[in-house]
Amino acid sequence: MSMVSMNPATGEVNETFEVYDTAKISEIIDRVHGAWLDWRHVCFEERSARLLAVAQRLRTRSEELARMMTLEMGKPVAEARGEIEKCAWVCEYYAQQAPAMLADQPVASDASRSFVAFRPLGVVLAVMPWNFPFWQVFRFAAPALMAGNTALLKHSSNVPRCALVIEELFAEAGFPPDVFRTLLIGSGAVDKVIEHAHVRAVTLTGSEPAGRKVAAKAGQMLKKTVLELGGSDPFIVTSGAGLEQAAQVGARSRCLNSGQSCIAAKRFIVCDEIYEEFLGLLKAAMDGLVVGDPLDDATQVGPQARGDLRDELHQQVQASLAAGARLVTGGKALDRAGFYYAPTILADVVPGMPAYDEELFGPVASVIRVADSEQAVAVANDTPYGLGASVWDRDTTRGRALAERIEAGAVFVNGMVKSDPRLPFGGIKASGYGRELSHYGLMEFVNVQTVWIA
Ligand code: NDP
Repeated sequence: MSMVSMNPATGEVNETFEVYDTAKISEIIDRVHGAWLDWRHVCFEERSARLLAVAQRLRTRSEELARMMTLEMGKPVAEARGEIEKCAWVCEYYAQQAPAMLADQPVASDASRSFVAFRPLGVVLAVMPWNFPFWQVFRFAAPALMAGNTALLKHSSNVPRCALVIEELFAEAGFPPDVFRTLLIGSGAVDKVIEHAHVRAVTLTGSEPAGRKVAAKAGQMLKKTVLELGGSDPFIVTSGAGLEQAAQVGARSRCLNSGQSCIAAKRFIVCDEIYEEFLGLLKAAMDGLVVGDPLDDATQVGPQARGDLRDELHQQVQASLAAGARLVTGGKALDRAGFYYAPTILADVVPGMPAYDEELFGPVASVIRVADSEQAVAVANDTPYGLGASVWDRDTTRGRALAERIEAGAVFVNGMVKSDPRLPFGGIKASGYGRELSHYGLMEFVNVQTVWIA
């Protein structure tokens, strides 16, 4: 069986790769476990030094890596450069912060000495998606490796080149062999990896169905999971909002990564009083985005990562229109090679439409009219998801009061939802559980060990 790396901007094949057979998978798992037996004893200074070296390699190779990402999954190259820089940042952040976060914590008890220690779990499997093919991996790997775990990466089947190069970067930075390894395998081979006795925990970023399957298998095997799944983030525009800025940021958030981000603004919930005015501003902002060749520095929206995903998005748009949504702009695939979809706005979206009920993973904004802020909060929470949310009101006290009532892992007032190594990231409800980043992310894959000495 082979894995195909395809350029979504042209539909042409970049390369093909042989997937790993059972014997090779088993050998790699054994090696990564063997590496853990040593790596768990390596001091923080050395772990930090290796991670800083990865950051340096990322920066040295930035241009090449950014282009590789763009060729394989189609993101605008300017954003790809930003992604590489953010990966370097997360490596530096944990290299600098993790030793203090992982230090023993004394606790007074009936012992002469008692404390809490943070021990690594062992081999952690990361099942990762194609949308931020570097960032998703590094935000898991930097804390997990600093904590003394070793890592197995099962990346999306459409980004095998990125998967292999990430493995190479860790080796180039002087990590001991097999501390970080890639498995070129399809999703059908994941269960067997989870079943393997040496694999101690699993983290998955991706769709809800994939999360349910992986978590079910891991649950059966009693292995810890962290799940970062989809979202249908609300973007509430109150009558007190700075409309021009909200529209500009909203369009940018919706179309970041060509619309393929779990924390993109997806449901624009707009108060009646300013509904048409905001719609006009949002249309101008969406129509102003530069759609084109993702290798061109000026491009803001590139192709969708795969043809099937683009077609699925179009079906969701068509079903919403058939159910009564109003097409404000876009609504079609672009008539050119590659998997392009026009930046689109659907207005007057109501329950029962895919644009209201489901996640739209592409550059399509759903706009929902509400009477007031009270109804806006109710609509914001009327979703199976709970990842991010943003609220727009020039009165930040009022904005904050609304934001705090939203059921989501992150709420932003007058700003775009984004991830940051210093702040926890993750969701509730069907968006998953557990947290990445900050010290909360570091704590996910450790054994919080009580030590009691008489
Ligand atoms: P998937 O969830 O199918 O893929 C994500 C990762 O999970 C890939 O590595 C995939 O492997 C793996 N995977 C899929 N199914 C299983 C399974 N049953 N057991 C084990 N591993 C599995 O996402 P898609 O690429 O199909 O995208 C579909 C939708 O997922 C998007 O439209 C979007 O809604 C959502 N998504 C959300 C992301 C997020 O950041 N939260 C990121 C990407 C997608 P393989 O590629 O080999 O199938």
